[in-house]
Amino acid sequence: MTNGDAALPVVIAGAGPVGCVLALCLVRAGIRVELLERHATLAEDLRASTFHPPTLDMLEALQLTAPLLERGVLAPTYQYRDRRTGRHATFDLAVLAGETRHPYRLQCEQYHLTRLACAELADSPLARLRFATRFEGYEEAPGGVRVEVSGPDGPERLHARFLVGADGAHSAVRRAAGIAFEGITYPEKFFVLSTSVPLDQALPGLAGVNYVADGSEWCTILKTRRLWRVLFPADADVADEALMADDAVQARLQGLAAWPGGYDVHHRTLYRVHQRVAATFRAGPVLLAGDAAHVNNPLGGMGMNGGLHDAFALAAALQQVWRGEGDAALERYCTSRRRVVVDFIDAQTARNKREMEERDPSAREAYLARMQAIAADPRKSREYLLGASMIAALRREGWAGGR
Ligand SMILES: Cc1cc2nc3c(=O)[nH]c(=O)nc-3n(C[C@H](O)[C@H](O)[C@H](O)COP(=O)(O)OP(=O)(O)OC[C@H]3O[C@@H](n4cnc5c(N)ncnc54)[C@H](O)[C@@H]3O)c2cc1C
Repeated sequence: MTNGDAALPVVIAGAGPVGCVLALCLVRAGIRVELLERHATLAEDLRASTFHPPTLDMLEALQLTAPLLERGVLAPTYQYRDRRTGRHATFDLAVLAGETRHPYRLQCEQYHLTRLACAELADSPLARLRFATRFEGYEEAPGGVRVEVSGPDGPERLHARFLVGADGAHSAVRRAAGIAFEGITYPEKFFVLSTSVPLDQALPGLAGVNYVADGSEWCTILKTRRLWRVLFPADADVADEALMADDAVQARLQGLAAWPGGYDVHHRTLYRVHQRVAATFRAGPVLLAGDAAHVNNPLGGMGMNGGLHDAFALAAALQQVWRGEGDAALERYCTSRRRVVVDFIDAQTARNKREMEERDPSAREAYLARMQAIAADPRKSREYLLGASMIAALRREGWAGGR
């Protein structure tokens, strides 16, 4: 299949962060792309806000890091907290200064990345951006694959060398390829609220990113440029309208941190969250990347970051194919990225959730004491942060991870 026609484009389904960044990597390498997005515009998506150090290092190659830094806010430290006692362990990413050009987290909504990448793609003669155009199906064809799409002008068939499913957790490409997506859907929903109330005044000593453990209502508290975002678990048996009602939202936020004037609430969004990995990231000329290939809970901020690492790895592999070096690089993309997901992203995020929802106060106390001991020791802290910042997993597989 890799002896296909180099004049044919790569068709990418999905203009989320992963599809947009993959498309930009490919056009910068001289490879034509058609990027399909079923919606008429890019999503103004409030899901990801954390960019980890190696992701910022990688995005520099596309000149996207500097504009993202302008649009976001740096989080040089982050905390693990116990909600009841207020005790916390604070990690300082400055210990990674020798490992990455960006020894901090950037908090910046994911839609800034898609907008920036699409603005670059719109200027490229090698990219065709097709909004309001849905991937419908495919069949293998000489030199690659024929992709069926439906767009503003009706159904159409595109001839491509490869098709990439970057179309999110419910990927139609993955389903069309018959690839299993095993794992679990969490029973609770994940409820994101945002407010301009300065939560670091309501809860003194808060960092820019905080993982708050509690036996009955854990949460994460994140600062973005304009707002603070709080993520709570929410009972899936309660109707969405009841969860999102003003008084219910106020009660939750006041329960976390009393604020006499009441909270102004800018966003309230409920998500179903899954922990799943595709059985394979490839079926012939069809490849998967990002949430189409793997989904995990957001505790650790690894979903989009992992998907962007897929995009860079897949773009490098496709360039090797275009140079006529065979498809070994694609096989390596699939096995190596899948190994990172299973051994690291999936395992770490599942562990983070278990620690945050631990019901036994003495087990929570012991976890916090362990975290405090690590944070206080620069050598242990560096090692821990190499893992939590996703650098260690990239390096283990020989992908560029920092520096
Ligand atoms: C509450 C929450 C917080 C999160 N926080 C973080 C974080 O801080 N850091 C982090 O790294 N990750 C985070 N994540 C995860 C992150 O949001 C996702 O991993 C990321 O959006 C995946 O990007 P993607 O491009 O693979 O998929 P998506 O963002 O889902 O994009 C897929 C695109 O494909 C399009 N599409 C779907 N079907 C079709 C079709 N048939 N044809 C054409 N187009 C189609 C969709 O419209 C969409 O635009 C969070 C997730 C949640 C729920």
